[in-house]
Amino acid sequence: MYPRPFDYMRADSVEQALDLRSESGGRFLAGGHSILPMMKLRMAAPDALVDIGRIDQLRGISANGGFTIGALTTHTMVASEGSDGFPAALSEAAGMIGDPQVRNRGTVGGNVAHADPASDLPTVFSALGATMTAVSKGGSRDIAAADFFTGLFETALNDDEILTQITVGSEAGNRGSAYAKLFNPASRYAVVGACAVVDLDDDGRCTACTVAVGGLTPKATVLGSVADAVVGQPVTEESTENAARAALDEVGDQVMGDVYAGAEYRRDLLPIFVARALTAAASRAG
Ligand SMILES: Cc1cc2nc3c(=O)[nH]c(=O)nc-3n(C[C@H](O)[C@H](O)[C@H](O)COP(=O)(O)OP(=O)(O)OC[C@H]3O[C@@H](n4cnc5c(N)ncnc54)[C@H](O)[C@@H]3O)c2cc1C
Repeated sequence: MYPRPFDYMRADSVEQALDLRSESGGRFLAGGHSILPMMKLRMAAPDALVDIGRIDQLRGISANGGFTIGALTTHTMVASEGSDGFPAALSEAAGMIGDPQVRNRGTVGGNVAHADPASDLPTVFSALGATMTAVSKGGSRDIAAADFFTGLFETALNDDEILTQITVGSEAGNRGSAYAKLFNPASRYAVVGACAVVDLDDDGRCTACTVAVGGLTPKATVLGSVADAVVGQPVTEESTENAARAALDEVGDQVMGDVYAGAEYRRDLLPIFVARALTAAASRAG
């Protein structure tokens, strides 16, 4: 359980972090709650870690019509964000991550850059249609969440880029969102997680809906069939059940099993958690 020897270096700015990384060929260290366990298990063995944890400009949440969340913002900060319009599902999911120690050290940027299929935030950012901003020495680019998560522990970030912030829209008017998961009782990682964002009209009919799932697929996945099943009608027990069945059909054989839970069990859980997220999101939208 000891990592291979590595160099440690600390960056005080984004520019310095990019320089140190390109010189050392190492990896960034943010909260350390994913990279360090990987190194101890020898699943990762970088020559160097570039500590970005003290770059204050990357920490915090600002409102600007929507919300911009710095990459170094901790899960605790997101869970306790109380601004009007801050997406409820995001605070909810951040508050369900791990334990207080993990939430106090772990960062939003590290969580999405690591792209663990059992993590909560990729699912939520996918449902919210978030935008990730990556900076390199050549400039910056915005990446839609739908394009950011590319596979199991894989993202669209290039080796010469650092993730600096994530932007989400405001949850105004008749919009509501919710996250529901079954967690592993030891780690609290998602066995199955579902996030729903629902818009209702004044008569309670659903006008738009996005549902993403995680924990059971190689990457967070938006399920278009769920929207087809509920848009144009009230979110009732019947429409929710139809939507949950559609979710199951759409994920099909993408469902993965692992040592914690088999694929069949996860398939059984999926409709339950999609229905829970949808129902809770609709009740917040009304
Ligand atoms: C016991 C335990 C329980 C946990 N339970 C949960 C859970 O229930 N749900 C959940 O979602 N997560 C869970 N986690 C993971 C936790 O959320 C981690 O904090 C998170 O996945 C990684 O964030 P970090 O800041 O610790 O990143 P680090 O471990 O420092 O880095 C992770 C990876 O991202 C890269 N990286 C970090 N920041 C950036 C950046 N700004 N730009 C580019 N690359 C970057 C690093 O180089 C590294 O490859 C748990 C972790 C532990 C140890």
